[in-house]
Amino acid sequence: MSRIPRIVILGAGYGGIVTAIRLQKELNYNEADVTLVNKHDYHYITTHLHMPAAGTDDPQNARVNILKLIDEFKIDFVKSTVVQIRPQEKKVILEDGTLSYDYLVIALGGEPETFGIPGLKEHAHFIRSINSVRLIREHIEYQFAKFKKEPHRKDYLTFVVGGAGFTGIEFIGELADRIPKLCRTFDVDPGLVKIYNVEAAPTALPGFDPELVQYAMEVLQKKGVTFKIGTAIKECAPDGITLADGEQIKSSTVVWTGGIRGNRLVEEAGFDAMRGRVKVDPNLRVPGHDDVFIVGDSSIVMNEEGRPYPPTAQMAIQQAEVLASNLVASIRGTPLKEFKYESKGTVASLGKGEAIGVAFNRKFKGNSAAMLKKIIDLRYLYIIGGIPLVLRKGHF
Ligand code: FAD
Ligand code: NAD
Repeated sequence: MSRIPRIVILGAGYGGIVTAIRLQKELNYNEADVTLVNKHDYHYITTHLHMPAAGTDDPQNARVNILKLIDEFKIDFVKSTVVQIRPQEKKVILEDGTLSYDYLVIALGGEPETFGIPGLKEHAHFIRSINSVRLIREHIEYQFAKFKKEPHRKDYLTFVVGGAGFTGIEFIGELADRIPKLCRTFDVDPGLVKIYNVEAAPTALPGFDPELVQYAMEVLQKKGVTFKIGTAIKECAPDGITLADGEQIKSSTVVWTGGIRGNRLVEEAGFDAMRGRVKVDPNLRVPGHDDVFIVGDSSIVMNEEGRPYPPTAQMAIQQAEVLASNLVASIRGTPLKEFKYESKGTVASLGKGEAIGVAFNRKFKGNSAAMLKKIIDLRYLYIIGGIPLVLRKGHF
């Protein structure tokens, strides 16, 4: 390759932005031509989205202008939507152009998995982006306003969250905190509001520490949440849901947090994918494609028991750090690093001042877990934007 190698990074979420930031530190000037493509001109902090979705925080606080994070002398930013990846031609088709690459990084994140459940795609809401959470927040407020006009419609005040994984639990904690304020604003009797969290597995947060799960459920029940555990949502309609046991819950607000899959563009590219996720090689490349790397929710990394690690921001960040150094090594012709995931623990918020978590081989709950969550959030802001971003976006 006599000309400068071209690196194209698709997606500026956790995996993409950390790869770009690392690359701009590690690459010398004119060593590579790096282009970052994202459908918005801002990076969003997905791990905060449950708050603006419920209305306990402003969506503005969960987004950061991409040009404030990258060095434009080293990285070209293109605001566009990727519509197709053509690995055979080493090209990416955007909604408004085409990019050629020598090395491609796919960091397009995941998509909600609806498992073919009828009506979910059409009638449920999803916590996925700044736009989707703005819609949820406005929709919830609108239900209160509509109820004042049609007080016989109690279903306007019934909120259903499908799935009690970490996203569902974190959202429901915020929603339960928001409801009393909405009741005061709209002069609604809080006793009329119902919040259901439906989970198909025999427990909320399947696979997590049972004592902490019990604690989380007690905290949320005290805030007014009703759990329906061990029963799946079978269908979603404009006026509510049907459960596997036949029970119907009338509701105008269904938020689906039942799981995620990889990005459809990944399987459409012809890679060997399982629900949009590719099992990457130890250097984070697509098997058979030494010039294509995948990080984040569209990649699969196996644990020692041969099961996929859950797709998390923590995973995407760690992958991005190794990926950046592997891109530099590929260009310089030096050996690539193998990726090894090191879990630093898991902490989930349950609303204001409450959380549960496992970290440093210890369990945390209540305020200490909430503090830990805050520290994790601040650390991420520091990684991508240093002290100035911590001061601007950190919640103290
Ligand atoms: P993303 O961060 O989703 O980024 C993908 C990027 O690609 C986005 O910027 C998107 O706009 C862009 N994009 C997508 N499609 C296109 C396209 N066609 N063209 C151009 N651009 C495109 N994980 C944790 O480890 N800890 C947590 O506390 C935690 N909390 C969470 C809370 C919530 C409410 C949610 C929903 C998830 C949480 N997660 C958490 C999971 C974590 O957010 C994801 O695993 C992580 O965001 C994955 O990073 P990613 O880079 O793969 O994708
Ligand atoms: P998930 O796959 O972890 O959980 C989805 C839940 O929905 C599961 O418990 C599943 O049993 C349930 N479910 C599936 N089908 C159902 C149905 N028909 N009816 C009722 N329930 C159903 O998805 P998630 O919670 O969106 O999390 C996605 C990823 O993001 C995970 O890897 C998670 O660890 C990560 N995450 C982490 C945090 C954190 O660390 N604080 C927060 C949010 C998300």
